[in-house]
Amino acid sequence: MAISEFELIDHFFNKAIKNTQINRLGIGDDCALMSIPDGFELAMTMDTMVEGVHFFPDCDPFDLGHKLLAVNLSDLAAMGANPIAVSLAITIPDVDENWMSRFASGFFQLADHFNIDLIGGDTTQGHLTLSVQAMGLVPEGQAIKRSTAQIGDEIFVTGYLGEAALGLKIKNGYQCASPEPVLAQFNRPMPRIKQGAVIQDIASSCIDLSDGIASDLGHILNKSGVGAQLIWDHIPMSRQVKTYIADTGDWRLPLCGGEDYELCFTVSSRKRHLISIPCFQIGVIEQKPGLRLNRFGKIENMMSKGYEHFS
Ligand code: ADP
Ligand code: MG
Repeated sequence: MAISEFELIDHFFNKAIKNTQINRLGIGDDCALMSIPDGFELAMTMDTMVEGVHFFPDCDPFDLGHKLLAVNLSDLAAMGANPIAVSLAITIPDVDENWMSRFASGFFQLADHFNIDLIGGDTTQGHLTLSVQAMGLVPEGQAIKRSTAQIGDEIFVTGYLGEAALGLKIKNGYQCASPEPVLAQFNRPMPRIKQGAVIQDIASSCIDLSDGIASDLGHILNKSGVGAQLIWDHIPMSRQVKTYIADTGDWRLPLCGGEDYELCFTVSSRKRHLISIPCFQIGVIEQKPGLRLNRFGKIENMMSKGYEHFS
């Protein structure tokens, strides 16, 4: 290694704390210290990305830094939590300062956008593996859970489905007439933090879409002990995804493709007039277990398991 572990941390990751009332001590000691304000709970989540599993070896490190943080913030968004601090564990085969600089730029561009402090982490040598632990604040008892969807609730998503899955297809050689916005969504998803905060006291349940709606909405259904019906004509899709489906017949892509990082949430019909964010109603919660799709008047069963690492 050209520079030492401590020089690396100091040079690339040690930044002045912005949220000094909450993040009382950052990088440099054995632990970071956080002070949780009265009336709030700390929401915590962790996601890991492994080279060759979650990203291509030739992935732009700027995009990687962004996406690693984004997928974690997306989990906070899904609970209605406001991100406040993160820690970062990096395992790298060797120190490439150009790579590290671009990675840190992507990471901090998104962290600064949401005013988040990096307060600690770990640095080790090995196969390229990146983990973030993200921490956010949510008013006590107000986090939006997966387990509280009610029969009759309407189901919404915050944006187009299938963008990231189409992005992956394009990376793997599918020819798309205007690939840029699709690839941007795949490479640099924006976590729906604002949307999560806005629906926090309106939504009855929420999840972020990491594995595709068929799988992720399935988690809400299982945890809540309910079922659902989606309406194909209501699934929001970009022109590019519609063209892809017309070209290939692969209409399951927007339902089963992963990594969109939109929010999927349920709202009782009494409260739907309170929703003040752009979103699309795609179906309704039903008593009968399972996930069904109404496609051109024909009802199809849709439960999908999504991506599982050990299967
Ligand atoms: P220890 O050996 O006590 O666990 P380390 O030597 O691993 O401490 O880390 C020294 C300091 O640098 C700690 O405050 C730790 O949180 C921080 N740190 C280490 N790696 C990273 C990283 N990749 N990003 C941010 N902070 C880091
Ligand atoms: Mg120590």
